Amino acid sequence: MARYLEAKCKLCRRADMKLFLKGVRCITEKCSFAKRPKPPGKAMPSRAKLTNYALQLREKQKLKNMYGMLERQFRRFFTIANRSRGVTGKTLIRLLEKRLDNVVYRSLFASSREQARQIVLHGFVFVSGKRVNIPSYIVRQGQNIEVKPKGKFQQFIKDNIDLNSKDRSSPGWLKIDNSNFKIDIVREPEKEDLVIPIDEQLVVELYSK
Ligand code: SF4
Repeated sequence: MARYLEAKCKLCRRADMKLFLKGVRCITEKCSFAKRPKPPGKAMPSRAKLTNYALQLREKQKLKNMYGMLERQFRRFFTIANRSRGVTGKTLIRLLEKRLDNVVYRSLFASSREQARQIVLHGFVFVSGKRVNIPSYIVRQGQNIEVKPKGKFQQFIKDNIDLNSKDRSSPGWLKIDNSNFKIDIVREPEKEDLVIPIDEQLVVELYSK
């Protein structure tokens, strides 16, 4: 499965904010954005001079990189959102949040979305009783998700929950049973549930040209 393999911290510096792509490292003093918040590359223009197009592009990149997606897959999500009923930007955010790897991450069972993707790929995640090993699988309201780690991975998930609950909390659209590694999807996610501020309308404007 294709994914972005270059330096992740550069993506935060380009986005001008922390995107929390490296798990625990992101909340320590080792965070590159905290140490060096300037955009990468000498030729980058000053942030004050960004054109409307550059702002739209940056917002799209921010959202795409946050969920660890490549352009083609992100564009596919946008097309689905655009064809759906309702407000496109809001639908796009809902679709992204309901990705199975994101649900595992937001439930605090993983320290980063990349780690959550590995947990899904290893076949530890069951949706309404069926094993699902597709990170981009979209969950639905009313479904229940169970993470069934084997052997040493059980302790690994427990440690993750302990560690992650110190600096983040899970969103209200997920009901989590930490002791049994279970998650219920109790409602649709909303923009307010996001941790990072996103102007999704800029993304819609960019793709509507
Ligand atoms: Fe971004 Fe800092 Fe995490 Fe690197 S360590 S991915 S700069 S938040």
